[in-house]
Amino acid sequence: MYADIIVDITHEKLDKVFQYSIPPELEGELQTGMEVVVPFGKGNKEIRGYVTGFSAKPGYDEEKIKPVLRVAEGSMAIEARLVALAAWMKEHYGGTMIQALKTVIPIKKQEKARRKRRVRLLIDEEEGRRQLEGYLHKNQKARARLLAALLDQPEQDYELLTKKLNVTLAVVRALEEQKVISLESEKIFRNPIRHREKGRKIPEFTAEQQYAADVFREDYEKGIRKTYLVYGITGSGKTEVYMEMIAVALADGGQAIVLIPEIALTYQTVMRFYARFGDRVSVLNSRMSPGERYDQTERVKAGEVDVMIGPRSALFTPFQRLRLIVIDEEHESAYKSEQVPRYHARETAIERARREGASVVLGSATPSLEAFYACRCGRFQLLELKMRAGFGELPGVFVEDMREELRRGNRSIISDRLKNLMDDRLRKREQIMLFLNRRGYAGFVSCRSCGYVVKCPHCDVSLSVHRGGKMVCHYCGHEEPWLNVCPSCGSSYIGGFKAGTQQAEELVKRMFPDARVLRMDMDTTRTKDGHEKILETFASEEADILIGTQMIVKGHDFPNVTLVGILAADMSLYSGDYRAAERTFQLLTQAAGRAGRGKRRGEVVIQTYSPEHYSIERAAAQDYEGFYDAEMEYRELMGYPPVEQLLAVLMTGPDEKLLDTAAKYLKEFAVRIDGKQRLQIIGPAGPYVAKVSDMYRRVLYLKGREDRILTEVKNRMERYIEVNQGFHGMRIQFDFNPMNVF
Ligand code: ADP
Ligand code: ZN
Ligand code: ZN
Repeated sequence: MYADIIVDITHEKLDKVFQYSIPPELEGELQTGMEVVVPFGKGNKEIRGYVTGFSAKPGYDEEKIKPVLRVAEGSMAIEARLVALAAWMKEHYGGTMIQALKTVIPIKKQEKARRKRRVRLLIDEEEGRRQLEGYLHKNQKARARLLAALLDQPEQDYELLTKKLNVTLAVVRALEEQKVISLESEKIFRNPIRHREKGRKIPEFTAEQQYAADVFREDYEKGIRKTYLVYGITGSGKTEVYMEMIAVALADGGQAIVLIPEIALTYQTVMRFYARFGDRVSVLNSRMSPGERYDQTERVKAGEVDVMIGPRSALFTPFQRLRLIVIDEEHESAYKSEQVPRYHARETAIERARREGASVVLGSATPSLEAFYACRCGRFQLLELKMRAGFGELPGVFVEDMREELRRGNRSIISDRLKNLMDDRLRKREQIMLFLNRRGYAGFVSCRSCGYVVKCPHCDVSLSVHRGGKMVCHYCGHEEPWLNVCPSCGSSYIGGFKAGTQQAEELVKRMFPDARVLRMDMDTTRTKDGHEKILETFASEEADILIGTQMIVKGHDFPNVTLVGILAADMSLYSGDYRAAERTFQLLTQAAGRAGRGKRRGEVVIQTYSPEHYSIERAAAQDYEGFYDAEMEYRELMGYPPVEQLLAVLMTGPDEKLLDTAAKYLKEFAVRIDGKQRLQIIGPAGPYVAKVSDMYRRVLYLKGREDRILTEVKNRMERYIEVNQGFHGMRIQFDFNPMNVF
C-alpha cells in the first residue's frame, strides 16, 4: 500500500500529492487526514504532511518511493478531520485536492493582516453626559472630544477616530481605565454590550415549537444524530427553535455552526443569538479579509467560541466538539459554491456531521425539493411549524392575469388592481414593496396575448434568446429560428420578455408623482453598504415604495409594509432550467411573506401571464405540499434531480474549434465508459453567454439515477482529461446538480 501525502497545506502553489510507501509498523494505522512525518527533497529533510488518500499501485519507480516515517505527534485532530472532509469533497465534486483543502482550511497569508481596532462606548447616554461635563470641567479637552464623538456614534474605528479628533492612544487608554470605553481588536460583533437586548426572555413556545425542540432533545440525549428539516412558514418561530436546539448541544459541552445566507445575515439576526448565548458567539462574513478569517479560526481553536454564525464557508469552522449544524433557508442557491469544488453546503454539512457525530437541522418555509424528498424517503426527519408564532395573519393573495389586462387595453406593467391598492396604501401612509422577479438570466420568448412560451421539445425547459436571433435550449443545444407570430394563438404579441427595475421605477414615479420611491438593484447597491443604506432608509419610513429585485425579499422586517406587488412572476418561471418552477414558488412565497408583518394584515398581488401554472397557483394558495407533488411529477417524468442526479461538465477555452472537438471527444469517452448505459449524456450545448472575455464555453450534461456511477464516470473523465494533450489550454470543471444554467 502507498499513501498519498500533501506536504504543505498553507502553500498556495504546491498542487501536488506525493506518494510514500507505508512501512509494516504503520500498516492499518494510517487514515485519510492523518498528519505524518515524511522525508522530503534531496536532503531527506523531515517535514509534516497530511494523508489524502491511498493507492495499491506505485505511481512511479518503486525504488524511488520513500517511506512514511511516523505519525506526527501532537497533530491537530480537527485539521485532520477537515482534510478528510476535503478528500470527500474532491471525490464528490471534482477538482484537485489543493482546491478542496483551500476551501476547508483558511490559508495563512504571508503578510499579517492589519488588525482593525474599534473603540466602543461602554456606558449609557445619561452617564456619558455626566462624564463629559466632568472632563470639560477639568479642562480635559482631548478626553471630552473623544467622549463626545462616541456619544454621537458609540462604536468607531480606532484609526479614523483618533486621526479625526487628534487624540493619542494615551487618551484612549485613560478612558478605557475608567471603564468608559473599550478598545477592541476583534471583530465588530465581538462584544456588543451596548446593543444586547438585556433580559430578553425566551417566548413561551407554541405546541409545534415545543414538539420540534423536544424531538431533538430526546434524540440528542439518546445519542441519536441525524438530519431534521424544520419546515415552517415565515414567522412560525424557526429561529427560536434553532436556539433551543443549540442550547441542548452547548449544555452537553458541544459546539454549533449556524449557516445563514449572507443576505439574511443582518445585525438583527445575529443579535438574537448574542442575546441568548452571549460572548461565546462569533460571526464570519464574506467582507472579512483572509487574514481576518484566519484570526477567527485561531480564536475558535483557542476555544473562545462555541457558536459560529456565518454564510456557506462557516461550515468549515474548526470546532473540536461539533454537535450541531443548523442551515437556515436551506433552499437558497447561495449554499452551492460557484468555485471548484462546487460543493453544496447541505450535503457537505451532512457528511461533516456524520464524520464528527453531529446532527444537522435544516430550516425553510419553502424547502428544497431535495430536502423534502429526503423526508418522504425517510432519510431526514420532518418537523413542521404550521402556525405563525410571531407575526399576525398570513396575507391575502391576488393573482392578476396580465393577458386580461392587455385585452382591456392596459399595456403597462402595473395591473389595475395593483394600482388601486397602491393608491389606497399611499393614502393610509402604509408602505409598499414592488418586486421584479428578475435575475441575470437569458430572456425567453413568450406571447403576451395567450401566455404561450417556447420550450425545448426534449428537455421541457424554455428556450432562451441568443444573439443572432436564435432560440436555444441550455441543456441539449436544440435550436429554433425566431418566431414572429404566436404558434398557439396567431397573435403578433410574441417576443422576448423584458422587464427592468429602472423602467419600473420611472413608471411608478409617473403614476404616483407624490410618492417617495426607492430602487434597489445591482446598480444602486454597487457601493459598499449601499444595500444596507437603502433598506435602512425604507425601514425608517423615509420612503413609501421600495422597488427591487429578489434582494429585497430577505433580511429586514418592515412592519409597515402591507402591500407587496410582484410585477413579473414569469421572469423566473421561464429561466430555462429545470429548477425554474421551484425558484418561482420560493420567490413568490418569500415575497408574499414580506407583507403584513406588523399588526395589520397584508396583501399580495402576483402579476403573471401564466396564472394557471402550478407554481403560481400553489404559491397563491400558500400550499407547499401541493407544489411539491406537482413539481415532483415533472422531475420524475424528465429525470431531473432529486429523482436523478445531474452532472454538468463545463468546458472553456480560447479556440472554439478545439473546444468543439474536445467536447465531442469527451462525450464519446463518457458514452464509451458507460457501457451499460446507465447514464444519459446530453449536449454539448453552447451556454447562454457562449463567449465571455474571449473564452468560448460548452456544457455537457450527464444524467443518472446513482450518485456512485456519476462519481465514477467523473473520476475517469478527470484522468482522461489529465493525460490527453487535446484538453490542454482548456479549463474543464464539474458541477454536480448545478443550481443554475450556464
Ligand atoms: P422564523 O425564523 O420562522 O421566520 P422567528 O423565529 O424569526 O421565525 O420568529 C418570528 C417572530 O416571532 C420573532 O419576532 C420571534 O421573536 C417571535 N416568536 C417566535 N416564537 C414565538 C412564540 N412562541 N411566542 C411569541 N413570539 C414568538
Ligand atoms: Zn399567443
Ligand atoms: Zn433541450
